[in-house]
Amino acid sequence: MTQKNITILGSTGSVGQSTIDVVLRHPDRFRVHALSGHRRMEKLAEQALQTQPDCVVVPDDSAAEAFKQFFGPGQPRPEIRVGKQALAQTAADRETDMVMAAIVGIAGLPSALAAACAGKRVMLANKEALVAAGSLFMDAVKTHHAELLPIDSEHNAIFQCLPTAGQSLACLEPAGGVDRLILTASGGPFRTYPLDGLAHVTPEQACAHPNWDMGQKISVDSATMLNKGLEVIEAHWLFAMPADRIDVVIHPQSVIHSMVQYHDGSVLAQMGNPDMRTPIAYALGFPNRIEAGVAGLDLVALGRLEFDAVQVDRYPCLTLAYEALRQGQSSCIALNAANEVAVAAFLERRLPYLSISQVIEKTLQWEAGQPQSSVSSLEDVMYRDQQARTFAQALCPTDGSSVSQRVLNA
Ligand code: NAD
Ligand code: MG
Repeated sequence: MTQKNITILGSTGSVGQSTIDVVLRHPDRFRVHALSGHRRMEKLAEQALQTQPDCVVVPDDSAAEAFKQFFGPGQPRPEIRVGKQALAQTAADRETDMVMAAIVGIAGLPSALAAACAGKRVMLANKEALVAAGSLFMDAVKTHHAELLPIDSEHNAIFQCLPTAGQSLACLEPAGGVDRLILTASGGPFRTYPLDGLAHVTPEQACAHPNWDMGQKISVDSATMLNKGLEVIEAHWLFAMPADRIDVVIHPQSVIHSMVQYHDGSVLAQMGNPDMRTPIAYALGFPNRIEAGVAGLDLVALGRLEFDAVQVDRYPCLTLAYEALRQGQSSCIALNAANEVAVAAFLERRLPYLSISQVIEKTLQWEAGQPQSSVSSLEDVMYRDQQARTFAQALCPTDGSSVSQRVLNA
């Protein structure tokens, strides 16, 4: 068996760590070419010792120094590359066969796009890349014959349930016979929380997801369900499906990861324990199935599966995401940028939970009044992202003391 070389961008994060877990189960199949981390240099050094990559990518010189500290004198260590450009170059390295794009936020777009432009197998966890640059990204996949495999569990599930599973994902129309896509959503930690108590929930409560153990940003996104909104946009691009044929249903157990409804009334679902190692192993092994370290489902122990409609007053961010998708790409860029800014402010206790949707809504309104021009390059996307970010930032208090009368009154 020829070994495949893997680059894991964002290896120190939740998806990155799960990827290393699966990769290490298959030393005959996979070899790590490169890892990247932004902050936790100790974790990155530990991963480098475990996986022996050729190189690591870190954000700056001080991170490089910190990384070196974890290697004794004379102890072999990987090449250290520094900066954003190195991240994109490493994603396109000739030695790399597959790239796991697991950086969080728009920061992951340039490297994910570079991997697509270099014709790699791109295992895409970074949904923000597709939300902000969907058409650019899908065009790059098509033009450069990259192989795109979705890691987000919902999209991985849909990919497995489509009749076209096994074919490249850069199609222009929905797969034949497909009526609708049904994304499942757990509803997050506040699914049954009293609505009038949401004004005072803390970052700790928002990050305590009932089923998944994830990074902080996506955990907050799951609480507001902006995450599901990003996933609707992601599904639109991956599967060429219009917004009005993508549904969301609450499914608190997170056992059905999503479904495809066909014209004949058949509904195909993909099920499994909520563990990201399943979609990661699917993408790594594709088209073969490989061991992921995930236990099989115990249906009897599970007993029952529940479904519910989304309460729109509880999750205004989901409605905003559908609106942005209908508006077009600039609105999707603004939605994502405003959310990243608002969630960071919430995590730093500068913004109350309920103001996250208000910051997004006001940024979308502002964006709609801006002169519209085409968004046809990475530079265009990054420029609009920065503009929206600046606007959203001005809505967020700079410290926790004056918390958000400004937003509420703006
Ligand atoms: P995380 O916060 O745990 O990890 C993020 C990784 O990105 C870390 O390695 C971090 O060092 C790196 N990073 C952060 N900012 C960076 C920057 N500015 N430049 C370069 N690197 C940077 O996040 P996560 O939960 O692993 O999520 C990663 C991506 O996968 C997100 O887009 C998320 O939406 C998506 N995703 C995650 C899950 C999950 O279960 N965690 C599921 C589906 C999709
Ligand atoms: Mg998901």
